[in-house]
Amino acid sequence: MNTCIFCKIVKGEANSWKIYENEDVYAFLDIHPAARYHTLVIPKKHYTNIFDIPEKELQAVIAAVKKVSKLYEEKLGIKNIQIISNSGAEAQQEVFHLHFHIVPRKRGDGQNLRWVTHSEWVNDFDNMIEKIQ
Ligand code: AMP
Ligand code: ZN
Repeated sequence: MNTCIFCKIVKGEANSWKIYENEDVYAFLDIHPAARYHTLVIPKKHYTNIFDIPEKELQAVIAAVKKVSKLYEEKLGIKNIQIISNSGAEAQQEVFHLHFHIVPRKRGDGQNLRWVTHSEWVNDFDNMIEKIQ
């Protein structure tokens, strides 16, 4: 039995606020919004994350991310958007049905992401590239 909440949303078995849909993709408002119009874009078919979704279906999802972003630009004048997708629990994925977050941003919204960076790892770049040959 499929207990995935996003599959339930696609099937209309769980409530959602639809922004956009086509044959392959569904977009809806995130229930814990980090910004007004914080939106999730998902494939209608269940894929866990970036690792198992076929390229063609991913293309349909990212095309919808673009469409929704343009919609927000045209209708709402939104010009700053963060697009985030987490794959894997240690990468902060909580719902295991692939999704892209569209988060409209503005100055002073308090939502800036800050990475801890390690410039010393530049010394390892040649080794790192060697490992993936
Ligand atoms: P992530 O950490 O990338 O897996 O984020 C999952 C997102 O799904 C979170 O931002 C949740 O607020 C959102 N979410 C979980 N359940 C629902 C739901 N029923 N409707 C809308 N958004 C949801
Ligand atoms: Zn699912």
